[in-house]
Amino acid sequence: NTFAEIDLGEALNLNIRRCKYVKPTPVQRYAIPISLAGRDLMACAQTGSGKTAAFCFPIISGIMRGPVPQKPLRGARTVFPLALILSPTRELSMQIHEEARKFSYQTGVKVVVAYGGAPINQQLRELERGVDILVATPGRLVDLLERARVSLQMIRYLALDEADRMLDMGFEPQIRKIVEQMDMPPPGARQTMLFSATFPREIQRLASDFLSNYIFLAV
Ligand code: AMP
Repeated sequence: NTFAEIDLGEALNLNIRRCKYVKPTPVQRYAIPISLAGRDLMACAQTGSGKTAAFCFPIISGIMRGPVPQKPLRGARTVFPLALILSPTRELSMQIHEEARKFSYQTGVKVVVAYGGAPINQQLRELERGVDILVATPGRLVDLLERARVSLQMIRYLALDEADRMLDMGFEPQIRKIVEQMDMPPPGARQTMLFSATFPREIQRLASDFLSNYIFLAV
C-alpha cells in the first residue's frame, strides 16, 4: 500500500520519497507490479491519474537493474535509447520529461526529450550526450530516425501515452513506422505499455499489433 513496499530499487525509492509520493494511485498500484513482472499492459488512465509514474517507475527500475547494454558503435552520431515514451504533444512530452528526470535523479539513467515545433539542433546536442529513455512526439522521432540520429534497435521498453489522442491527431502511420523499427528478434524482448483514456476499435487494433499476451487494466 506504500511505495516503500514495492521493490523498485533504492535510488528510485529515494526519489519517490523526494517527490513526496507515499501511496500509489490506483493505476500505479496495479500497473507497476504488472510491469515489474515483465508483462505487457494496456491501461485505462485519465490525466491526473498518476499514469506518468506508472510507466516511468518500471522503466527506470528495469534499466537500473538490467544488464549493461552493449550499444553498437554505428555512426558515431547515432544513439541507442533503451526505452521510448511516445506522447501526442510537445506540452505533454515536456511534462513527462520533467517528471522522468526527477524520478531518475542520481540513478545514472539519462532522459532526453524530442518534440516538433522547436529547432532540432538543441535536441540533437542533448541526444549526443547520451540517452537511455527518450521521450518523443511521433513526428519528430520519425525525423530523427530518417536522419539516422536515433536507432530503436536496443529498445526494451515502449510506453504509448494518451494513445487515443495520438490516433485522433493522425499519428498512426508514424507510430507504426516507429514500432516496426523495434520489431527485431528475439521476439518478446520488448516490453510494451499502452495508456489510453478511451478504447475505440483502432486502439484495440494497436494493442493487438504491438502488445503480446497483455493484461488489460481498467481502474
Ligand atoms: P499524471 O496523471 O501522471 O499527470 O499525474 C498527476 C499529478 O499527480 C502529478 O502532479 C504527479 O506528480 C502527481 N502524482 C502522481 N502520483 C502520485 C502519488 N502516488 N502521490 C502523490 N502525487 C502523485
